[in-house]
Amino acid sequence: MLRQRLIRGADRYGKALGPRARVLVCQLPLAVMMAGVALAGPAAWPGLPDSTLCRFALALQAALLAACVLVPWQRFGPLAPLVIPILDLVAIGLLRDGTSAGLPDPGVLSVLPVVWISASSLSAAASLSLSFSAPLLAALPWLLADRTAPLAARTAEAVLVPLMMLAVSLAMRSARARLRHEQRRIKSKEAELGVLLAEVTGLVDALAAKDDVVSTVSHEFRTPLTSIIGNLDLVLADIEGLDSPVVRRVEVAQRNAERLLALVSDLLMSASAAVHVHPRRTDLAGLVEASLGSAQAQAQASRVRLATDVPGPLWANVDPLRISQALDNLVSNAIKYSPDGGSVRVSASTADGLVRLHVEDTGMGMTAADAGRVFTRFFRSPAVRDGSIPGAGLGLSITKAIVERHGGSISCRTRPGHGSTFTLELPTDGPPAAF
Ligand code: ADP
Repeated sequence: MLRQRLIRGADRYGKALGPRARVLVCQLPLAVMMAGVALAGPAAWPGLPDSTLCRFALALQAALLAACVLVPWQRFGPLAPLVIPILDLVAIGLLRDGTSAGLPDPGVLSVLPVVWISASSLSAAASLSLSFSAPLLAALPWLLADRTAPLAARTAEAVLVPLMMLAVSLAMRSARARLRHEQRRIKSKEAELGVLLAEVTGLVDALAAKDDVVSTVSHEFRTPLTSIIGNLDLVLADIEGLDSPVVRRVEVAQRNAERLLALVSDLLMSASAAVHVHPRRTDLAGLVEASLGSAQAQAQASRVRLATDVPGPLWANVDPLRISQALDNLVSNAIKYSPDGGSVRVSASTADGLVRLHVEDTGMGMTAADAGRVFTRFFRSPAVRDGSIPGAGLGLSITKAIVERHGGSISCRTRPGHGSTFTLELPTDGPPAAF
């Protein structure tokens, strides 16, 4: 992260400066050093002011600094400013030639122009050979002039600085290559991200549009459905006691209208962004009892025995309506997915400020892959989808949303052919403050 920011920062910094300012910034360190030599030279190196070569080197430096400021570099190609560091190497060579033995070697100053050349867009071969040959050529007169030391020692001394500069240039080039590589990688990642973002944006928009349609349609369905159910209730009350096929047909219509209303409510709830809960002190054992009571008819029709092992009262701070809805979903699923009959048992346990409600069935169970997706909206296992068990794949996702809104969690243990156990885990004190 930091590396990416540094790379981007360097990139932006380079682009923000104009060509002239860039040349000046590159030249400034050496110009400051040379100014230091010019000012401190007479005291540090007593012979320096008398050396024509030194004076020439310093004058060349001053001219180069002026050129950095005055030349309209933007009119020339990107490699044109490299004439400055090349001439810098000449100036350093002259300074070297002008200083006498025993004094600090100004050859090390070559590192500044070499860094400039190596960081430029010049080819690697050209910048490496320039970094080596320019300091070497500049040192030749000095090598030839000083005849007091043995030739081998003079040669070693003359070659040392160019070799050092070659090493510096190599390090710079490899750092530059790495930087370029990183920049290319970041650019391609950004491009990939852009494509992904465009794809995901489309998907999110489509999902939002789908949720919009679902919620509008469901909302529009609810009012007429409630009216149908209300009127069917009134008809059934009027014809109560009659034993005629009409009563049974009205009852079928009423059951289906109620199923439709339940489906519409589920669709509405799953399309809305948030589940609202209003927790209060509630006896969970009472809710379990009520849930099993209302599932009795469905259980009888499916030849499923219902059992409970929830000693009451079992107090928790929950929204009774929402938790009933969650329990109803789990109990109704447990019966629905036990097509060959069997038993459904609801039990409870408490520990560490949590209450756990287990809804266990001996039904068809699921594969591990299916179990991993049961809480996803609209998911129905392939075994169920191919069969005749009705459902929309919304109940468990709604149940999960309700439980999580309480600061709890839901999990599932299952094996194909060996039944399933769904466990709700709820904090007895209710949802934490953040909820
Ligand atoms: P629906 O029951 O309407 O299909 P749910 O969200 O309640 O939707 O359940 C999603 C899917 O999870 C079901 O279609 C079924 O494949 C699977 N499932 C849920 N409960 C059980 C269970 N007790 N036993 C086996 N499979 C189950």
